Amino acid sequence: MAIMNFVPTALKNLFLKPVTTSYPLEPAEYPERSRGHIRISIDDCIGCGMCTRACPSGALSVNKNAGTWEINRFDCVVCGYCVEKCPKKCLFMEKGYRTPDTQKATETFTKSPEVLAAEEAKRKEAAEKAAAAKAAMAAKKAAEETKK
Ligand code: SF4
Ligand code: SF4
Repeated sequence: MAIMNFVPTALKNLFLKPVTTSYPLEPAEYPERSRGHIRISIDDCIGCGMCTRACPSGALSVNKNAGTWEINRFDCVVCGYCVEKCPKKCLFMEKGYRTPDTQKATETFTKSPEVLAAEEAKRKEAAEKAAAAKAAMAAKKAAEETKK
């Protein structure tokens, strides 16, 4: 009888753990290649905008001076191009799903005040160096002019 073919499987399953989990009573187990959702280590972002240019659905925007990175989760199709393109590797796919939203809104990530202050200090230093170099060039040029 064909039904007898199932007997070994049925007997074996009596002694195995269930293949299902009791989510949400216990944490969900996501498959290895599950895409989940995009996250950012915002303090490592250099504001280059390569992710925004790679994004096929225009879900991203970056403001380098303000140190912010924004994502519209409703527009994101979780293709992963932004993760591939980021030169600082600060974007990644986090397994698992977010709580559903009821309204379209962007999620904004902002750099920590310490990182923003350090970047501002670097910008100032670079601007001062550039101004000093320009002044030195102007002075050299003026000195050469007077020699003539
Ligand atoms: S995963 Fe794709 S759609 Fe989503 S933000 Fe990145 S590039 Fe855009
Ligand atoms: S590609 Fe990476 S480093 Fe550049 S703006 Fe996007 S998240 Fe920041």
